[in-house]
Parts: sequence; structure tokens; C-alpha cells
Amino acid sequence: MLKVEGISRRYGDLTVVDKLSFTVNEGEFVALLGPSGCGKSTSLKMIAGLEMPDEGAIELDGRDITQLSPGERKLAMVFQSYALFPHLKVEENIIFGLQARKVSKDEQKRRLDSVVELVGLGDHLQKKPGQLSGGQCQRVALARAIVAQAKLCLMDEPLSNLDAKLRNEMRTEIRALQQRLGMSVIYVTHDQVEAMSMADRIVLMNDGKIEQIDVPKALYNNPQTIFTAQFIGSPPMNIIGSGKNRLGIRPEHIEISDKGMPANVVSCDYHGADTIVLADVGAAGEDQKLVKIRYPGHAMFEAQQRLLIRWDSGNEHRFPN
Ligand code: ADP
Ligand code: MG
Repeated sequence: MLKVEGISRRYGDLTVVDKLSFTVNEGEFVALLGPSGCGKSTSLKMIAGLEMPDEGAIELDGRDITQLSPGERKLAMVFQSYALFPHLKVEENIIFGLQARKVSKDEQKRRLDSVVELVGLGDHLQKKPGQLSGGQCQRVALARAIVAQAKLCLMDEPLSNLDAKLRNEMRTEIRALQQRLGMSVIYVTHDQVEAMSMADRIVLMNDGKIEQIDVPKALYNNPQTIFTAQFIGSPPMNIIGSGKNRLGIRPEHIEISDKGMPANVVSCDYHGADTIVLADVGAAGEDQKLVKIRYPGHAMFEAQQRLLIRWDSGNEHRFPN
């Protein structure tokens, strides 16, 4: 449905988005994931028409929209900052865009009623945004995007202003709504857990470029680069050895055993369901000598304690240099 083909954006000498290409299928939830400053928002703005690419093209339903104004693209957007009108009531905020687009009063009412039900704002329609919590404001912004019935909804870190518990709830809510309505979504986030738990597919970016595009499971199980291996998963994948002998092993794949590789405990971090043990496996001259081990349950290892660790070779990851 959406085809982004080699779009780039430069600010002076700085290339902040470098030949980005990916597609979004009808009804698909695609996460644009990467560290802060890697070019996610700039990419989303180019798709929205708020920034012009210096090269490349964007197609929506087979039509080239690269040069169209934001209004002509008819996409919906949800921002981190909610972007609500403080002087308008919740219901007026929700249907604001419909009035501008001359949707009939009856149709506005119909769409408002159905969306209010969906996002659970029934008791708040007469309030102003200042009287709402952050989560409720974000629901208003979501409702506004839903009533637009846009082909594609663009969301830029919509949950990052909310506390952790609410963020978790809204994550589930947004995903459920998206699936129920069959919405096509591009969802920008720097949070790999958010992307992994919500998205059908993830476009992982690093420094303006695409690192890997895959379904969450493949990104986790078959990372093509060390960046991907360490960005996805927490704690990140261990990389040990150096040069051609460098290999990756996930913390949950390392066992503490009665034989294997010697490791000296550095610290021990108890999380409830598991304990993360940081250990030194260094031989002289190696680049990477600390590993994290995910030990199920509670463990108390002393600093300097000597352990033996092992893993199945089938769980090793290799990366081209
Ligand atoms: P992200 O959303 O992934 O955090 P952005 O797309 O906002 O990243 O920004 C990518 C890079 O582009 C950053 O280094 C940022 O400082 C730079 N940048 C963004 N907008 C401008 C601008 N208008 N002028 C110069 N540099 C910019
Ligand atoms: Mg951003």
C-alpha cells in the first residue's frame, strides 16, 4: 500500500536519512525503530509531507505522492505531544479535522459515537484537554486519527510521555484497536520492547540507514549485524572473542555448569523472575570479555567467584566482518 523508495534527507553536510526504502501492506503495523537521533521522525515527516526528501519517492496505492502537500495525502498523525487544541472540548478536538474536510454533520456524529465507544472517552466529551490525564489526552489524539478513516496512520512515539504502567496498557489498547479496525500504521519508537510487542514488522534504523527489516521473531533469532543483535533484546546479546572469531550468544542461552569456560563474577543483579550475572571471561588481547548470563530464579554469586559456563553451539550467532 505504501512504498518508500530510497528517500534521503540532508541538513547541510549532514545526511540524517540515507536512502530509506520499505513498504507497508494493507492492515499492517510497521514499527520504525532505532536509537534517538537515527532519523525516525525525519523519515515519518517525509511520509507525512511535512518535510521534502532530497531524493527518492513515496507511493501510496500506486500513486506518487512525493510532491503532495500533507493535506492532499490524507494520512492521519498521532504525536508524542498529543497536539490537541486546549480551548476546544474533547468532542470538538476529535472531529476537528472532519469539519475542515466538510464531512456532513450526521456523518461526524456517527463517527464520533463509534470512536468514543472504542477508546472509552464517553464521560469526558465535554471536558477540555487541561482537565484530562496524559493517557486520556493520548486517547483523544488516537480517536481523532481513527475518525479520519485515513488510509494510513502515522504515530511518532505516542506513548513516551506516559508512565511505564500506562504505557503498557496503551500499547495493548492501540494494538487491539489497530487489529480490530484493520488500520495500516507506521509507528515510530526508540523502545525495542514496544516495537517487538506491537509490530507485524520492524524497520530497524541506525544512523540514518536501514539496519534490518524483519518480523520481530526473525529480528531476534537471526540478527544480520552486531548492531541488530545488541539493539534487540535485553540484556543485549553478548559478543565475545575478536576479529574473525567473534561470536554472539544471548544471555538466556548461557548455562552455569560444572564444566565449560571459566568466568569470574563481576556483579549479580536480582530481578525477581531471573538474576542477571555479569561475568568476566576474558583472555588477554580479546576485545569483548564481559558477558551477561540470565539465570532463572534467584541466585547469589559473590564478586570474584569463579564459575564455569557453557552453551549449545546451535545458539551461537556469527556475523560477517
Ligand atoms: P529520531 O526521531 O530518530 O530521534 P530525528 O529524525 O528527529 O531523529 O533527527 C535525526 C537527526 O537529524 C538528528 O541528529 C537531528 O539532530 C537532526 N535534525 C533533525 N531536524 C533537523 C533540522 N531541522 N536541522 C538540522 N538537523 C536536524
Ligand atoms: Mg523522533
